Amino acid sequence: MEHIEKDLIIIGAGINGLSAGLAYALNNDLQKKRVLIVEKNPVSGGYVRSFERKGYRFDTCQMISNISDILDYFGVEVDFHEFKQDFVRVFRVDPSTDNVKTFALDSDGKAFEEQIIRLFPAEAQKLRKFFDYSLAMFHEIYGLKYNPGFLEIVRMLVTCPKVVSNRNKTFSAYLKMFGIDNPEIELIFQAFSGMCGLPNDKIAALLTVGVMYSLREKAYRPLGPFEELPQKMERRYYELGGQLYLKTEVEKILVEKDAVTGIVLNDGSVVHSKNIISTIDVKATMQDLVGMDILRSLNSQYAEKIESLQMTTSAFTVSLGIDNADILIKAGLPCGYGLLTLGNDCYTQLYPAIENNEFRFSEKCFYIGINCPPPSERDKPVLSIMAAPLPVEDWVRLRNTDRAKYNQRKEKIADMLISIVEKYLVPDLRKHIVVRDVASPATYVRYSGSPTGSIYDMAAVPENFGANRLPVKTPIDGLLLPKFAHGVFGAMNSGLQAVDILLDGKVMHGNSRFTKMGK
Ligand SMILES: Cc1cc2nc3c(=O)[nH]c(=O)nc-3n(C[C@H](O)[C@H](O)[C@H](O)COP(=O)(O)OP(=O)(O)OC[C@H]3O[C@@H](n4cnc5c(N)ncnc54)[C@H](O)[C@@H]3O)c2cc1C
Repeated sequence: MEHIEKDLIIIGAGINGLSAGLAYALNNDLQKKRVLIVEKNPVSGGYVRSFERKGYRFDTCQMISNISDILDYFGVEVDFHEFKQDFVRVFRVDPSTDNVKTFALDSDGKAFEEQIIRLFPAEAQKLRKFFDYSLAMFHEIYGLKYNPGFLEIVRMLVTCPKVVSNRNKTFSAYLKMFGIDNPEIELIFQAFSGMCGLPNDKIAALLTVGVMYSLREKAYRPLGPFEELPQKMERRYYELGGQLYLKTEVEKILVEKDAVTGIVLNDGSVVHSKNIISTIDVKATMQDLVGMDILRSLNSQYAEKIESLQMTTSAFTVSLGIDNADILIKAGLPCGYGLLTLGNDCYTQLYPAIENNEFRFSEKCFYIGINCPPPSERDKPVLSIMAAPLPVEDWVRLRNTDRAKYNQRKEKIADMLISIVEKYLVPDLRKHIVVRDVASPATYVRYSGSPTGSIYDMAAVPENFGANRLPVKTPIDGLLLPKFAHGVFGAMNSGLQAVDILLDGKVMHGNSRFTKMGK
């Protein structure tokens, strides 16, 4: 068999893998150092996907924070729509009256805060304290190192005191510090925790604050299809001399003694390398590609951490092509992120279903993300309705064993979601639907390879966040697992971090967040 050797193999050509590939390509002479990305799907991009049905174009993703520093670094240009007044809409249905209360929020820094203060004047003082403190804490995040040595830890105690003192708090516990317990305010903040797949009372406070402040600074979506982002990254990677195998699945990671030696592909061929970055689901990497016995023999504590890791939720999405943009505009739907929910705590009520692997979503308890891109920026108006949090349940087995029953169940749930949106937001929605496409948790499993169809990787609970997070360096020499994505920015940052580790700080200088100026 031909002996193929690469200096670096990256598993997965999602945003994370492409970022790692680009960072490596930019910092090495690829005539001498060869890098290969292996991707099982026919196109790169992973979860960042666009697709067309009868001339209607849909995107999986809807909004990202400012990634311009990273794109500049890569030498990739993408044109963006910047969200301002059309940032976030929270539609709260009052369970006793069925009335819908809308909270329409601006992006644009201070405007966001002032608006929330205006909405809840009785809480103004507490909110001001919360915002001032949170902004200062957000700025501290830029001073964090991902793998600090002793002196850096001592320095961080002084330079990042807020991060240090809140590192083990959930967002709910953090809110209590400011005496904030107004359920409607909690719901608005839940919109940001929900973007990471967790309820306020489970998520690490630092993540909700990080997401809220990143998006509050700038929130975008590409003017063209969302998948332009990975496509342009892929093109740049090729320009720099990187290699990419599409439609090729990695079936095994080879380990000898305590180090990686290569991968086995689905056609049985072997590619050798001493450096592997896996950007696929961590459990799939360790359980399916490495093998837990090998991992346990090297570090039983790490193996236990992998096995006990809680993953984030999956989802169920109905994508609709609409014949009349006016019905969407009238309902106030075009925005960066829309949320329709009944009462205040549906997310918290639905969340335990993940642990029990059961479907609890209903007309009596729902939490629906709305993706409605500006109709002015596309030929045909579209609307996507996403139900979360949802477990993977039995969807994969059903899809594989009884396609008719699978489709029947899928369409029934889609009908329920459409009815909810029609009842509370878009009257006569059904009459205006031209195209309908439905994705179940099995769809997400298929696209990402994550056995739980998790949208945001590992759950960022305090026990697995910050200093407690699963380290990128694994007990297997040469195997890096930069999988702590939480969105497009997070995925890019993770890929950069893995290469920073390989190249001794050449990309991020050991910082937790990439900045162009970072030292
Ligand atoms: C419906 C939806 C909406 C979202 N909306 C937003 C949003 O608005 N804003 C935002 O910031 N984020 C959003 N996200 C999250 C964001 O898309 C992800 O966090 C990010 O794209 C993850 O990138 P990744 O490269 O780490 O992983 P992935 O995108 O999962 O990529 C992993 C890649 O590895 C490949 N792979 C898996 N197994 C193998 C194997 N054995 N061999 C070879 N290849 C393999 C997969 O095919 C995949 O291409 C959304 C996600 C979903 C699903």
